[in-house]
Amino acid sequence: MLERTRRLHGYDPVLDRMDRKQIIGHYLSLLPNTSQSSLEFKTRSELIEDLLDLQDLQQQSQSASRKDYPLRRPFASSSPNDFNRHAGKPILWCWEKDVCATANSLATAEQTYELDLPQTLEPDTLVLTAANSAPPLILGLEVVSGVVDGAAEIELLEMFSNPISVLEVEQRLGAKLPRRTQNLRPSIVDQVMGVISELVVSPAPIILAAGDCDAGVSNAADDAILAISMLQADFCEEAECQSCGRRGISNLEAHISRPGSDNLVLEIQDHVDDTKLVCVDCHVLIHQTDFVKVSAFSKPACPECGERNPRTMLWGEPAGLPSDDVVIAGCVLPSEPLPEWQCRSCETEYFVQKYEYEPYKLEIDALARLTSWQLANLIMRKHKEENNIT
Ligand SMILES: [Zn+2]
Ligand SMILES: [Zn+2]
Ligand SMILES: [Zn+2]
Repeated sequence: MLERTRRLHGYDPVLDRMDRKQIIGHYLSLLPNTSQSSLEFKTRSELIEDLLDLQDLQQQSQSASRKDYPLRRPFASSSPNDFNRHAGKPILWCWEKDVCATANSLATAEQTYELDLPQTLEPDTLVLTAANSAPPLILGLEVVSGVVDGAAEIELLEMFSNPISVLEVEQRLGAKLPRRTQNLRPSIVDQVMGVISELVVSPAPIILAAGDCDAGVSNAADDAILAISMLQADFCEEAECQSCGRRGISNLEAHISRPGSDNLVLEIQDHVDDTKLVCVDCHVLIHQTDFVKVSAFSKPACPECGERNPRTMLWGEPAGLPSDDVVIAGCVLPSEPLPEWQCRSCETEYFVQKYEYEPYKLEIDALARLTSWQLANLIMRKHKEENNIT
């Protein structure tokens, strides 16, 4: 008899399609020693719960055999020599609590930048940055290349896109590393670098369960997946939402696109491979099952301020009760095109340009109503058409 863990969202796309007879057949094929009479009193849902518990147990025993785990590490690893040349240098251990911001600044940092640190740093000091996720991860190695007017010039040496767990480093060191920012003891500095270069060359699996994905909430395991996804994303200068393409998003979220399989216990790269980095707006939309909210979010965003959920502009004098979702724009029609939407936030009136439309044949007063963004588009299109650029 399996021990029952109370499951709130037991769901399995295959099991849920089986009828009672099929489930009992499946049950007996997995657990042939079960007596059929012991299954008679179980409801179909209870049988499914038993099978889901069994899957969890099998997964846990699989993840226990970490030695021969077929790891995927998509990024080329540095050679141990890259790390040997830093032997003997002091290390500032930077313990970062804001995992997303830390990964973001590493993933979008220029090769060298200036940093104001509370303590004065000697040139040649290494800065080893670890993030407080679960498990905690070592994300970056930098070096103080110079100190000018009290500000340290930092050069990025290594971004650990292939993840390195602080717990694994500690286990190999046989010592704990600090959970706050401080200089590492000189006696362990070379050992720490030695273990890291060992793990860069032959990485160790990091097994974790991904939490229930939802917009605006994250847990420490999701943070680990988010951090590595960001380091592996090919951002050029600014972090970008992989759904809507908006740039300069400081608080990207990890959406794990794996319907119905929350809390799967997998190696971190398997989670990262299933992850999309999205802005909060897109993440809300992805997890939205309420039709009214989806319809609000799916209207075109304001070209001036990016706000979603505009009001619909109604021209003429339509019958019906006034509503907060519409603007009665009146009978005095401006020349075409009529704006279709009004931003709730900045009141910009806008429309979506149709493909066949030829907006450059507009009257001058119609042009005056276009936003600078629409005008720029228009000029670009006219330029392309006149020069036969496709
Ligand atoms: Zn987005
Ligand atoms: Zn999600
Ligand atoms: Zn607006």
